[in-house]
Amino acid sequence: MRNVFLLSAAVILAGCLPDKAATPQTERSLHERVLTLDTHIDIPLTYMTEIDPQFDTALQVDLPKLAAGHLDAGFWIIYTPQGELTEAGYAAGREIAETRYRAITDLVNSYPEKVEMALTAADVRNAVDNGRHAVLIGMENAYPMGENPDVALWARRGVRYIGITHFGHNQFGDSSNANPKRDDGPRHDGLSDLGKRLIRAMNDNGVMVDVSHTGKETMMQAADYSRAPIIASHSGVKAMADTARNLDDEQLLKIKDVGGVAQMVALGAYVKLPTAEQAAARKALDAEFGDRAGWDQAKRDRYGERRAAITAMAPEATVAEFVDHIDHAVKVAGIDHVGIASDFDGGGGIDGWQDASETANVTAELERRGYSEEEIEKIWSGNLLRVMEAAERAGR
Ligand SMILES: [Zn+2]
Repeated sequence: MRNVFLLSAAVILAGCLPDKAATPQTERSLHERVLTLDTHIDIPLTYMTEIDPQFDTALQVDLPKLAAGHLDAGFWIIYTPQGELTEAGYAAGREIAETRYRAITDLVNSYPEKVEMALTAADVRNAVDNGRHAVLIGMENAYPMGENPDVALWARRGVRYIGITHFGHNQFGDSSNANPKRDDGPRHDGLSDLGKRLIRAMNDNGVMVDVSHTGKETMMQAADYSRAPIIASHSGVKAMADTARNLDDEQLLKIKDVGGVAQMVALGAYVKLPTAEQAAARKALDAEFGDRAGWDQAKRDRYGERRAAITAMAPEATVAEFVDHIDHAVKVAGIDHVGIASDFDGGGGIDGWQDASETANVTAELERRGYSEEEIEKIWSGNLLRVMEAAERAGR
């Protein structure tokens, strides 16, 4: 990149070079030139009914912030908290999933000038070329699909990755974080038979298999069982922050071996370990609030406020510390197997990348560390889109 900057400076200084030297291409910053894709953007249940993202909102992601931060594409998330493995539990989960699916389709239908639904990697590039934010859909936690998962239906609706588990084991596999109330040790020692059927159905329908939130056994088995490369849609590395949610080097190498991609997550507690004082306060807070499955929005908000107060007890994780995760993942798995996820509006956000409007700071830190434009493009979207294309081919 240094050469391009020198060239730009030379053009300005010389002032007499042919006009074509000053094409718009060279005037745009590196951040504006690369296609930026965030693989994890959460939405509240009140999205599009009580919250209108065309305005500057309290959310970390809305349409003005996407434009300000040149965030070109994102996986918008149908998240369902883990509930009981019963018909009633699945039905309640399905309601939540339907609500978020409606919100994402409403977003796309309401602001066609600003956002465009993308079903393929080619759609993503087209939408961005047309000046629109490409909306992809990811499902976080396959739980609401019950015991007869209709992956074809969700694939027709636009879902392009499905996370096998969330917090707590489910019918498909074991989570990285067992639910202390419900889970008495591992449930399946990895994937269940139903989990294997789920993966086969994802492969058949061109949907990427997401192993973020799964336990290591589940993740390693999923990597072997899937005929398409897997992704970790939003995870950090244990080498930098040793939490259950993060990936160890063996897992990073597995993702490399199968041609997949690990998307580093900008969630403070996964970027930098909390202090002992913060850890104790969080444990007490979680005990006080109980099982997430029963929370309404007001309770989620209250929890969020209390959680933020605990976060404020120590300096926040920074963009530099976040990029340390990227550096480590690149060192272990290689430049072709690492990407980026914010987890905005789902707990994500660090000092310097607090919302979508600050996205250029991540690119700036990558530039400072000496990554080339080609490498930054791979990290921001190229690797993920390559895996998405492989999943599309596997589905045919
Ligand atoms: Zn998550």
